[in-house]
Amino acid sequence: MGFDTLVVNGIVVTATDTYAADVAITGGKIVAIGEGLPRENTKQVLDAKGRYVLPGGIDVHTHLDMPFGGTTSADDFETGTRAAAFGGTTTLIDFAIQYKGQSLRTAFDTWMQKASPKATTDYAFHCIITDLPDARIGEMNDLVRDGVPSFKLFMAYPGVFMLDDATIFKAMRAASKVGGMICMHAENGGVIDVIVKQALAEGKTAPKYHALTRPTTAEAEATSRAIALAEMAGSPVYIVHLSCNDALEKVREARDRGLPVYAETCPQYLYLSIEDMDAPGFEGAKYVFTPPLREKWHQEKLWTGLKQDHLQVVSTDHCPFCFKEQKELGKDDFTKIPNGGPGIEHRMSLIYSGGVAKGRFSVNRFVELVSTTPARIFGLYPQKGTVAIGSDADLVIFDPKRQHTISVKTHHMRVDYSMFEGITVTGMPDIVLSRGRVIVDGDKFQGKAGAGNFLKRTAYSGV
Ligand SMILES: [Zn+2]
Repeated sequence: MGFDTLVVNGIVVTATDTYAADVAITGGKIVAIGEGLPRENTKQVLDAKGRYVLPGGIDVHTHLDMPFGGTTSADDFETGTRAAAFGGTTTLIDFAIQYKGQSLRTAFDTWMQKASPKATTDYAFHCIITDLPDARIGEMNDLVRDGVPSFKLFMAYPGVFMLDDATIFKAMRAASKVGGMICMHAENGGVIDVIVKQALAEGKTAPKYHALTRPTTAEAEATSRAIALAEMAGSPVYIVHLSCNDALEKVREARDRGLPVYAETCPQYLYLSIEDMDAPGFEGAKYVFTPPLREKWHQEKLWTGLKQDHLQVVSTDHCPFCFKEQKELGKDDFTKIPNGGPGIEHRMSLIYSGGVAKGRFSVNRFVELVSTTPARIFGLYPQKGTVAIGSDADLVIFDPKRQHTISVKTHHMRVDYSMFEGITVTGMPDIVLSRGRVIVDGDKFQGKAGAGNFLKRTAYSGV
């Protein structure tokens, strides 16, 4: 009796260990790890010589097939999970949006219908709550039981997504009782709206004003308020897409006090800055997302935050809109540019390259940021997020030396530009497995639509 697949000669990397070993897979699970595992009757042998064997990446912040600003994000669950897989990401947590008047369950069902026939890799959902009368609070409990134990709330976008402090506080209290996690979009939406209206009245309509009307203080204030509300509610809180040092300081202070506060940042905040919005013509629209790009000096602060565990996760906030026809909706008014940028494909390489290859942190810390901690915080560990016996065989054979120049010409996302055009990264996935199946082999995609499973996540129990 042999194994289904053996990955041989590689260096296994987890959040804590780096060692030479073969990895054996049967029935989609890792069944043995060790040196010189027997090859007799094994159906498939993959040679990982000179390369790392990593747990598949987990991107906990994506927006596939999402309606926004009169259009829909350009990647659906097929093209999005495919692009993610090319980059070594084998699990996504996307967002199911509850619109006003709807039940939370309706949001979940709607997004399941979008994902289940199309996803090529495993996926899960957070639920975005936009309307929470007292009568609906019990629905949070039901959703946690159905495997959706995290909820995203907005302190920005008044009239669309924004909730008031009382509602946020109630949601946090309800979540804390049942092991739910609150994910917070932390920006002071009321203040930002005043600044935006003033800019438009002064005829400031170019893309760059999207960034100039959203000060770092608005993010820091909301981050601080979210932490205070969570502290009063006795609940953990997870700050999404943290973009600047001002907000990072708030998270650091809270964690120093021992509060269960977590935060993610995204590659765009580590590699790009507000200067990119000076691109000629309307090109700055390619970088219109929220929170916006900041001054360049914030980048090094965020890298340091990742190294020192003030930031625990790197996600992408992948929300692609094509430059033609979609971003162009805001040609004469930056507030009409759909907010979002494409990034799902290059997260692993950008963070390996800037983090490990540049000597900022270890390869183990890299695995922790892109896979292990996301799995732990969001109830997927140890099924996902590590290389261990019994875990799903979501594996990446990763070449730490291979260089690649990112370009729209070669990427797999269904969008007509790249935010990272021309950036050369060191470290690329060669072979990617999802539950033991090879889905990416070099340039070839071997996965199929609908093969991904919905992951029922467990409730938060501390990290
Ligand atoms: Zn987002």
